Amino acid sequence: METQDGFIVGIFNYCDRWCERCALTARCRVFAEIARFDFEQDHGAMPSPEPEPSCRSLGAMALEQCGGGDEEPGGLPAVAQVPRWDPPKLSPDAQALEDRVKALGFRLAAWQPLEGTTMDEGIGEALDVLGHYGVFIGAKIHRALFGLSLAEEGDVALSDANGSAKAALLAFDRLGDAWLKLVEHGAVSVAAAEPTLTELAWMTGEVERRFPQARQFVRPGLDEPVAVTMLEWQERG
Ligand code: SF4
Repeated sequence: METQDGFIVGIFNYCDRWCERCALTARCRVFAEIARFDFEQDHGAMPSPEPEPSCRSLGAMALEQCGGGDEEPGGLPAVAQVPRWDPPKLSPDAQALEDRVKALGFRLAAWQPLEGTTMDEGIGEALDVLGHYGVFIGAKIHRALFGLSLAEEGDVALSDANGSAKAALLAFDRLGDAWLKLVEHGAVSVAAAEPTLTELAWMTGEVERRFPQARQFVRPGLDEPVAVTMLEWQERG
């Protein structure tokens, strides 16, 4: 686990973006940047753009997009010299997988219990999970498939693709658990729940087939509780 200024490098690349529930906000550069931006807006200041720190660990592709091109002697990016980059298209089968993930995700995010369902804490929590991860999975799968399409064995794009695929797989797991919770609470019948569970199981298998190393990917900080605890101790002196 690499740290810079107390932040865990790259933690935000493979998290679930659910900052309200994140235990590591104090270690996340993106969270700090957003908090600073919000603070400056609330207090009437012009937000000062400082993209570099957040871009530092986004991987090769993102670094390019954040201004990793050549600079003129004066320090400003030489815009005219930055080559135009047209992202390659996904293969038809990869695109079909992405479309299928997005379609299921949006259906789940928009799902509502039948009228007359007695709402309780369990159903409310399951709905929150569907709402969050339903939107999240499409973007993560896109990043994973796109990274894989560019990657060569052992390079940073492949590692990033595996990390993104792991984030998507964990989100599938959470969606499946939430869906089962809705069945348990009587908000969805077993028969009505079955197609969604089948679809999630198929997607999980398909992503694991394409990214056999994904589950083993170690997400900075998030999969390193001992290293995070040691960091806390070191900082306490
Ligand atoms: S690491 Fe935590 S705080 Fe940072 S973007 Fe992810 S969920 Fe939000």
